[in-house]
Amino acid sequence: MNLTNIGNVKDILGRHGFSFSKGLGQNFIINPDICPRIAENGNAQTGFGVLEIGTGIGVLTAELAKRADKVTAVEIDTRLLPILEETLADFDNVKIINEDVMKCDLHKIIREEFSGLRVAVCANLPYYITSPIIMMLLESRLPIESITVMVQKEAAQRLCAKVGSRESGAITVGVNYFGTVRNLFNVSRGSFMPAPNVDSAVIRIDVNREPMLEPEEEKFFFSVVKNGFSQRRKTVANALSSQMGIDKQRVYDSLKAVGLPETARIEQLDLDQLIEFSKMLVNT
Ligand code: SAM
Repeated sequence: MNLTNIGNVKDILGRHGFSFSKGLGQNFIINPDICPRIAENGNAQTGFGVLEIGTGIGVLTAELAKRADKVTAVEIDTRLLPILEETLADFDNVKIINEDVMKCDLHKIIREEFSGLRVAVCANLPYYITSPIIMMLLESRLPIESITVMVQKEAAQRLCAKVGSRESGAITVGVNYFGTVRNLFNVSRGSFMPAPNVDSAVIRIDVNREPMLEPEEEKFFFSVVKNGFSQRRKTVANALSSQMGIDKQRVYDSLKAVGLPETARIEQLDLDQLIEFSKMLVNT
């Protein structure tokens, strides 16, 4: 079934009495060029199991299933299940798990579903929880090689900004700490049904195999990043002393060690400097 044909989509949604939920970020892809491109750029290929988040009516799921050995998709909306049974009837390598992706045990799902396979994540993410989903996938250290996802264009710009630039944020540092991020291509708002108010972009994160810091150092690093960016207009010393109660002189010493003045703000530190700075700070 052609799931980008508007007539088909309207027919199937109508027959199942489905209405879009704005709260669940339901904007389904209707541009036929997009899903094959996500699948081709997202490691959907022989030898891979693909974890999808949010199936909608299965338009991306089908393109993933054509290419990968197996697709397991987590979808929160129970109303979509009878629709997916119909739209994905031709595939015997797809499994739908009707859960909230933020609450399910993804380690267990990957272990049980993708034994012997390499693993990639592909999705057109629900916009209301883009950053929490991306950080959850990275922080939980799942055995995944890449995350290829559609996000709002503004979120893509923030995710792909250079760490140490004004455009960066805590999420920029987060993704760059865990992997390498690239903006693949832009997608206009007219490619979705219903059309959202903003354009989108597809990004890919290649996940690092090894963590850069020990667990305790890593916890402290993210606390520094979170607190530093929550008061990004202040100097790092002011932000960390007010948010974390760290003595300003310790902050000055650690800044000096990475070649920065006492007046530095968090957005001025590149990734290496942030890592070194937080290591110095935690060990003094
Ligand atoms: N992949 C489909 C497409 O591209 O047409 C649908 C994408 S739509 C932007 C996001 C999908 O994520 C919806 O199907 C929505 O029901 C689902 N969703 C929203 N919140 C979710 C959550 N917490 N866990 C799992 N799925 C969720």
